Amino acid sequence: MIIDGKQVAAKVKAEVADAVKALRAQGLAPGLTVVRVGDDPASEVYVRGKRRDCEEVGITSMEHHLPAATTQAELLALVGRLNADPAVHGILVQLPLPKHVDERAVLEAISPAKDADGFHPYNVGALSIGIPAVPRPCTPAGVMRLIAEAGVELRGKRALVVGRSNIVGKPMAALLLEQHATVTIAHSRTADLPAEVSRAEVVVAAIGRPELVRGAWIREGATVIDVGMNRLESGKLVGDVEFAAAAARAHAITPVPGGVGLMTRAMLLVNTVALARRTLR
Ligand code: NAP
Repeated sequence: MIIDGKQVAAKVKAEVADAVKALRAQGLAPGLTVVRVGDDPASEVYVRGKRRDCEEVGITSMEHHLPAATTQAELLALVGRLNADPAVHGILVQLPLPKHVDERAVLEAISPAKDADGFHPYNVGALSIGIPAVPRPCTPAGVMRLIAEAGVELRGKRALVVGRSNIVGKPMAALLLEQHATVTIAHSRTADLPAEVSRAEVVVAAIGRPELVRGAWIREGATVIDVGMNRLESGKLVGDVEFAAAAARAHAITPVPGGVGLMTRAMLLVNTVALARRTLR
């Protein structure tokens, strides 16, 4: 089975659009504010995409585009104003920030109650100790939805996450654990990656190395989720998994493109609506 990220993302967006309609009927217009500093061309493309997604589902999107020379103090002051603004339910500071700005300090200044990306240390900690209803990091949350839509039960399964970044690998492992999988995390110092992969019933690859995970390593009948997005010199986009050979052995697998990437964007909308809804209580 090829897990169709486009189809699942469309379904998630339709759910979000319904939720937004219901909130607006109660007088609450969910709003996401994106802060972008400088003129990184990739960031501009991402931010444009996020704005379009918001428009599609009825979320009010706002953008603050600041010059590259913006000081850390100015940026922190803006975050403080957004924290205090009741029309803003989700705040997202687009990374990377210019080198003179301390990224960690800026992300920590965002109120955990408005943390659309789920990267605030409070929310990271809350996720790891099982506090419910905190914003979940978008990419791992999107992966969980894809696994659920594929009808794969995680309870008691051996799951392997390859990669231990703060934005994908670590929260991914926490979410799989929450669903009662038996989780292993592999990384660049893992002694025998092929052996780890071949034992896993669920593999999530978040490495950033084109086709590092070979199809022959995949256990027959495994579920394979490929988070990697690697642009080859030819311009082709490939994942971290050798797709065709892995697909021949897997029960279910995500393609690149057309898999996890679209879900990441959709889950940002889910987080924004969830944060807005919490202000009603
Ligand atoms: P990252 O911060 O660079 O982390 C990569 C991880 O892979 C690290 O933990 C690293 O181990 C591990 N690794 C590197 N080489 C390895 C090897 N030979 N064997 C085993 N593990 C190895 O990357 P990231 O931000 O997590 O992103 C990973 C990939 O996902 C990238 O391709 C990125 O573009 C993609 N991504 C996609 C989405 C999406 O929406 N689809 C979102 C985010 C990221 P060490 O910790 O030991 O260095």
